[in-house]
Amino acid sequence: MLTTTNGMMFVLSSPSGVGKTTLAKKIEKNNSNFIISVSHTTRKPRPGEINGKDYHFVGEKDFDLLIKGNHFFEYARIFDNYYGTVKEPVLKLLSAGKDVIFDIDWQGTQQLKKIESLPLVTFFVLPPNIEILKKRLLNRHKEQEKLIKERMNKFNEEISHWKEYNYVVINDDLETCYSKILEIIMNEKKGINQTQNIDEIAKKVGKLIK
Ligand code: ADP
Ligand code: 5GP
Repeated sequence: MLTTTNGMMFVLSSPSGVGKTTLAKKIEKNNSNFIISVSHTTRKPRPGEINGKDYHFVGEKDFDLLIKGNHFFEYARIFDNYYGTVKEPVLKLLSAGKDVIFDIDWQGTQQLKKIESLPLVTFFVLPPNIEILKKRLLNRHKEQEKLIKERMNKFNEEISHWKEYNYVVINDDLETCYSKILEIIMNEKKGINQTQNIDEIAKKVGKLIK
């Protein structure tokens, strides 16, 4: 792990609806050195989402041009849409000493991990239980039963990647989860890694995928 005075990269992944966007925004809001990487996507904006702030919303042709121009650190097809992280703004932030937060999936995380000497720390966020996760999805996608079903169907596949991450945290109470992530981040910035109880996490995941 690179520990320099330069910025670091912190990835948050989870099954849809667990709360990683909420957590990432909270980290950015409360800590001036942290900036969320704004991804490009071909999906349509949700109500309230702002182009350039939540995502750069682009058409498939433009996304394809970015792929062909080798502009992406990573990209993936998720739920029939493309999502990707353009390299240049991230590199600029890192060299300005900023810490960059990524709300990306396991496919993107795998790709980042393959790039040598990135100052990368990865988090996988779990829901407290399935009922709460469904409630959170319902809250976000009111009356979109089909979409929620689709996202729940992906749950087992997504959660199976938890072992590929440096840390696993549970987003039960938002404040508690946020503080835990921040504590780990601040330690990592000092070059201190924390160990987690893998057996306990495996048990928790086992219960979630039953
Ligand atoms: P994700 O980015 O993982 O898909 P979001 O951050 O969009 O998930 O959160 C999904 C929904 O759950 C949102 O309505 C959000 O406000 C809510 N939420 C997130 N974390 C919590 C929490 N700890 N307790 C209660 N609701 C939460
Ligand atoms: P949503 O459509 O709910 O905003 O995001 C769907 C999924 O895409 C989430 O798992 C989110 O983490 C992931 N995602 C968002 N941006 C990127 C990206 O740039 N790259 C990858 N690989 N995944 C992304």
